[in-house]
Amino acid sequence: MAGSYPYNPISLPQMTGGPKRPFQVITCDECGAMGRKIAHKSRLPPEAIEKFFREEGWRITRPEQGVCPACVKKEQEERRQKRASKQKESEVIMSKTFEPAKAPQPEKSPAVKATIAELYMMLDEYFDRVAKRYKPGWSDEIIAEKTGLSPEFIATRREQDFGKIEDDSIEKVLGDRLVKICDGIEKLMSEAGEIRKLLDGAKSKLAETEITICALRLAAQTAREAIRARNAK
Ligand SMILES: [Zn+2]
Repeated sequence: MAGSYPYNPISLPQMTGGPKRPFQVITCDECGAMGRKIAHKSRLPPEAIEKFFREEGWRITRPEQGVCPACVKKEQEERRQKRASKQKESEVIMSKTFEPAKAPQPEKSPAVKATIAELYMMLDEYFDRVAKRYKPGWSDEIIAEKTGLSPEFIATRREQDFGKIEDDSIEKVLGDRLVKICDGIEKLMSEAGEIRKLLDGAKSKLAETEITICALRLAAQTAREAIRARNAK
């Protein structure tokens, strides 16, 4: 099949009525539902067509074939239920394991051991101990979803054996720096206020002194004139 182009346009009636138009189609492996995309004159590469269907919710399995959004949803729901029942099962096993009647150091059941082993494998792979954070796309919650364990349990084990999460993202670093700068500005502004107050006080003192000088000069002048008048007699 080398060189052949998948997604050869097929002429189909339009959903909204009107004349037939060329469509590129994909068929659901599960239920046979058909996805369609209006074909353009310039043929898009298969990857672009698959990207379009993916964005519509399809999972592509091979050219022109996939799992339709409805079946994807159904699969997810089934997986979720399976996980829920698996978790319930582990909980039952856990509660049985920790029954007081059992030996003082109870052995964990193989199912629980396997789940915890899976957790440690995931932490080992997806938690960056040096950077002290998860690799992109991973978190306690996501591992919880995948293992059926509770996020709290995972957080406890992670902190205990792999380390706490340290947020040293550039946003956090810049945010911290901004807070420091704002604190600095506030401090300088309050200092400026103090200086202004002192300056205002000094100014009014200066004005008062100048008035006193004027008054004294006037008094001196009057006295001088009085002496002169007396001598002239
Ligand atoms: Zn389907």
